[in-house]
Amino acid sequence: MNYFSLERKSPEVGFEEAVRRGLAPDRGLYFPKRIEPLAKSFFDNLHLMDSVEIAFQAIKQFVGAEIPEVDLRKIIAETLTFEFPLVHLEEQIYALELYHGPTLAFKDVGARFMARCLGYFNDRSTNKESVTVLVATSGDTGSAVANGFYKVPGVDVIILYPSGKVSEIQEKQLTTLGENITAIEVQGTFDDCQHMVKRAFLDHDFDGKRQLTSANSINVARWLPQMFYYFLAFKEVKLEERPIVFSVPSGNFGNICAGMMAQQLGLPIHHFVTGTNANDVIPNYLRTGTYQPKPSVATISNAMDVGAPSNFVRIQEIHNGSFEKLKQNLSGYGFTDAQTREAMEYLYSEKGYIADPHGAIGYLALKEYQRNEPETLGIFLETAHPVKFLDVIPKSVQESITIPKSIKSVLSKKKKAEMISTYDELKQYLLSN
Ligand SMILES: *Cc1c(COP(=O)(O)O)cnc(C)c1O
Repeated sequence: MNYFSLERKSPEVGFEEAVRRGLAPDRGLYFPKRIEPLAKSFFDNLHLMDSVEIAFQAIKQFVGAEIPEVDLRKIIAETLTFEFPLVHLEEQIYALELYHGPTLAFKDVGARFMARCLGYFNDRSTNKESVTVLVATSGDTGSAVANGFYKVPGVDVIILYPSGKVSEIQEKQLTTLGENITAIEVQGTFDDCQHMVKRAFLDHDFDGKRQLTSANSINVARWLPQMFYYFLAFKEVKLEERPIVFSVPSGNFGNICAGMMAQQLGLPIHHFVTGTNANDVIPNYLRTGTYQPKPSVATISNAMDVGAPSNFVRIQEIHNGSFEKLKQNLSGYGFTDAQTREAMEYLYSEKGYIADPHGAIGYLALKEYQRNEPETLGIFLETAHPVKFLDVIPKSVQESITIPKSIKSVLSKKKKAEMISTYDELKQYLLSN
């Protein structure tokens, strides 16, 4: 499969090159040249297939011949080692829990898949050129990436996180692995970390010295495997005769955009709903038709504190740049922290369900949509384990949250991080290590 840059000023590349580069040389996001819908027989037989087979069929065309089928199946089998339970909460509402992976965040799937693809390419490569994955994180991305790439041959991972601004659990998950994972603690905000990473990608002083790549949803190998969730959920509800709607709590809009790719492949999704926090650029766009990115503001659902969603250009591409077409396929609503807390309390007291702040926004958005579309079957994505956001979960709910074993063991490990405060220090580090 070939990929082209959405800036349309770079040459097309194959899957491997797109994964190694992350972004095209013209700074555009890569997008697949063609999308071939899956055969009807695939959907008819979906309920008979296991998760690995479903995922394989969904992603195969996007990888193409660059990874042979047996190896691709193996990569998928090693990626999908945990469950994605669908929890029935109300007659027409399910929660799809995506947080049962090793770092308790949905990003585990994309990170594990991407890491194994890069590992595969490095294994086979004759020049043994190692790749440095450089990521800025406000918490969740960094831990999923660190864990996914741990001990993958030929890949060094460098994670920048803002000092004092990630939770204790998240910091431990980032800083205690060692081996090929380096954590860099930045005296500054998440935006400062992000700026440093962007500057490094543009810095020609690394040319020929370090091949830098990204591991956020810009990278096609992190973005596309997120299609799996939608197929796996559909398998569970296949026999319900209602139009299916997915509600996705969104930040960079990579996850929801992957759902739209699944829909392009023929998965019968009636409509998408996005829930955001106060960073409501997309809901505003859907209302006004004007796309106006703005600086991000801090909220209790901080993995979605994004003011300029990077996958917006892919969403536009999927809808042929048509605002009308997009509006028919996507609804969006923004919520305050107070509304988010209220939803967490309500879900717990009325439904006995513990949601994290991101999932709670997915629920709120779905409810809002269903007020006018009561005949739909709604599935909202629960993107993180509540324990990762313990400090912002209402007291009444907190007491019932049990800390998983994997978290307990990481908490007792010793933190190891480099401390920096400027871009030059980062550059120095990258050139000398
Ligand atoms: C990253 C993240 C999101 C947002 O996902 P996008 O693909 O960036 O829209 C939502 N919830 C949690 C818990 C996350 O970590």
